Amino acid sequence: MIASIEGQRGMPRPKPPFPAQSGLWGKPTIINNVETLAHVSRILKVGAEVFKSIGTKDSPGTKTFALTGHVANTGLVEVPFGTTLREIVLNIGGGITDDAGKIWKTGFKAVQIGGPSGGCLTEEHLDLPLAYESLRAVGAMVGSGGLVAMNQGTCMVSIARFFMEFTQRESCGKCVLCREGTNQLLALLDDVIEGRADAGTLELLEKLGHAVQVGSLCGLGKTAPNPVLSTLRYFRKEYEEHIFEKRCRTGRCKALLSPGINEVKCKGCGLCIKACPTGAITGEKKKPHHIDAELCIKCGACATACKIHAVEGI
Ligand code: SF4
Ligand code: SF4
Ligand code: SF4
Repeated sequence: MIASIEGQRGMPRPKPPFPAQSGLWGKPTIINNVETLAHVSRILKVGAEVFKSIGTKDSPGTKTFALTGHVANTGLVEVPFGTTLREIVLNIGGGITDDAGKIWKTGFKAVQIGGPSGGCLTEEHLDLPLAYESLRAVGAMVGSGGLVAMNQGTCMVSIARFFMEFTQRESCGKCVLCREGTNQLLALLDDVIEGRADAGTLELLEKLGHAVQVGSLCGLGKTAPNPVLSTLRYFRKEYEEHIFEKRCRTGRCKALLSPGINEVKCKGCGLCIKACPTGAITGEKKKPHHIDAELCIKCGACATACKIHAVEGI
């Protein structure tokens, strides 16, 4: 068995036939998503003119969005093109929630629209009628119809990284700019999140993002940098805070946290000293303790050990 596997090394993997050449029953087959087929049946039933009377001039008909994230009601939402983000997220979605699922009236921060290669939109876009043309104009897209609502506790740099990691994994590797560029974008985002970035990182992220868009062959590479470019466009301040102030306003980027002991709260019980694996904490019994930032590896064990939550910033 091993010999036969060894013998196959370097051999090109056999490619499955394209459905357009040989699909169902070995015949040429058209692959379309269910939504398209559902529309076809409706158009045949009601007629093209009636179908086109719904939606906008350039985006007629309806669209099904997969609404998820920090909203009270998640699920599939079919609305006419031209419906606003406010209607979908705040009315149909029932409003923004906090991490515990409770309604957070002022908690709206952003939506990621169009799936992993889509773009992030902000509060200023809440009244934007959702359609192919309007989304393209603000650097987003309808895409797969994914719509992820995010509350104020969401770090937009981490979100860009999350989606970039997905598209990077999906790259088939044929084009250098998609294969290597998405990898480098991911590394640059890691630099921002882990505190290694400088002013040049922002410029590089933008330049490389545009280069990947231009130099990629298919839609995956052309849209992969969207989450990075749209968050840079609408949430640049958050990138700048990570880079220049070494802080993440949401506390999600652990590498940028610097734990400290609140001297007013601390009772000097010493539990944190016992929990700390690096000996970073010192203090006399019944007196406020201190953390040596040089020795601290930000593991969070002290915060877990402290029963009165005197350890802050982690
Ligand atoms: S752009 Fe498309 S074809 Fe090129 S490497 Fe990326 S996924 Fe492959
Ligand atoms: S975060 Fe970890 S390493 Fe840092 S002081 Fe607390 S227990 Fe020690
Ligand atoms: S466990 Fe909390 S209260 Fe006790 S010494 Fe550490 S920080 Fe202070």
